[in-house]
Amino acid sequence: MTQASMKDKAIEKLIKAETKRQVEGLEMIPSENHTSADVLAALGSRLTDKYSEGYPGQRYYGGCEFVDQVENIARDRAKELFGVSHANVQAYSGSPANQAIYFALVDPGDTVMGLSLFYGGHMTHGLKVNFSGTTYNSVQYTTDKDGFLDYDAIAELALQEKPKLIIAGTTAYPRIIDWQKLRKIADSVGAFLAADISHIAGLVVAGVHPSPIGIVDVTMTTTHKTLRGPRGALILANGNPSNPLKKPERTVENIPSLIDRAIIPGLQGGPHNHQTAAIAVALGEALTPEFKEYGKQIAKNASKLADELTKRGFNLVTGGTDNHLMVVDLNNKDLSGKQGEKALGLAGITVNKNTVPFDPRSPYDPSGIRLGTPALTTRGMKEKEMEQVAEWIDQAIKNASDEKKLGNLHKEITDFALKFPLPS
Ligand SMILES: *Cc1c(COP(=O)(O)O)cnc(C)c1O
Repeated sequence: MTQASMKDKAIEKLIKAETKRQVEGLEMIPSENHTSADVLAALGSRLTDKYSEGYPGQRYYGGCEFVDQVENIARDRAKELFGVSHANVQAYSGSPANQAIYFALVDPGDTVMGLSLFYGGHMTHGLKVNFSGTTYNSVQYTTDKDGFLDYDAIAELALQEKPKLIIAGTTAYPRIIDWQKLRKIADSVGAFLAADISHIAGLVVAGVHPSPIGIVDVTMTTTHKTLRGPRGALILANGNPSNPLKKPERTVENIPSLIDRAIIPGLQGGPHNHQTAAIAVALGEALTPEFKEYGKQIAKNASKLADELTKRGFNLVTGGTDNHLMVVDLNNKDLSGKQGEKALGLAGITVNKNTVPFDPRSPYDPSGIRLGTPALTTRGMKEKEMEQVAEWIDQAIKNASDEKKLGNLHKEITDFALKFPLPS
């Protein structure tokens, strides 16, 4: 990507430095990816200048004839890709999208249930210090001691607490989520069921992870993780949009209207049209057969990496992975997650520290690291390269206190990374 020259040299310099950091290293944070040049072009377009509060055909501003078409294309592609009758593409990002789901389906003080952050959930699934934990009566479920979702325990907790909304989805869970089991649990207490597929949307598109569509009541995904688009979110549902001016009752059929009204006027003002255009571009890319191959390769690479790390004595939560990520417990390597993150960073491998189930350490200095393959797979790496990456991870962890060795490793990794350019 050649960047147009900027007048603001301070920021231009930092953009160049960040681009170089990405090009010369290995991005293994599983929520990150590398977008296409077309996505970047849409993001950097004049569409960012335009106000267009409302929805296509019913805007509060003039001059919306082109952004209307952009948003319609984004919505149509989202509907086609996931097989739903309604898509809202305006949420500014994943967290605001989840906020809209709560706003649409429950009232302050109502009981909501989600997976604890410390067991692989997201903050917006009811963490005490998040809006979802302060506005609502949040009840949190966990995993079993091996890190697997414990559906019997979730069912029991639901019967006990009678939530009005169950939110299911993960940020650090390496296994398949059983939507049918969660549906039964939600039905047993008459709760709405929301799926948050932010991490796995690209895998759902590729058929690597079962889709929640048709099983759950509403589905949310970010657009910037395995889906490989700009930052943003989709809220997907089946149902009939009703009269936009009348407050609809809280029924499954009305979820499209409830969501649209939650986004605006409920929570947001003008949509980010440059972002909507970039989402449309990314969804267009995701509709191609090449993207399905990409999604399959992400999982193949993760599986290979997990095997290679296990061979080298690494202890993986749940013993491996079915998706794009793995959580590695570093306790048997005598390193904390923070130390692991730092050592790998010095070697040019970017990961993030993460709790492991029933973590003996504090959430701020947890036992594990989380790593994934979406960004490396975008660069064209395959199973063969994963073996090499596992070897480097092992070397970096073994030499965590030797900055010189880590620096040498970084040089070696940079030579390798340069052979796998970012998308252009
Ligand atoms: C990333 C993520 C979000 C939030 O997305 P942001 O765009 O960072 O606000 C919500 N839920 C899950 C499961 C996620 O992984």
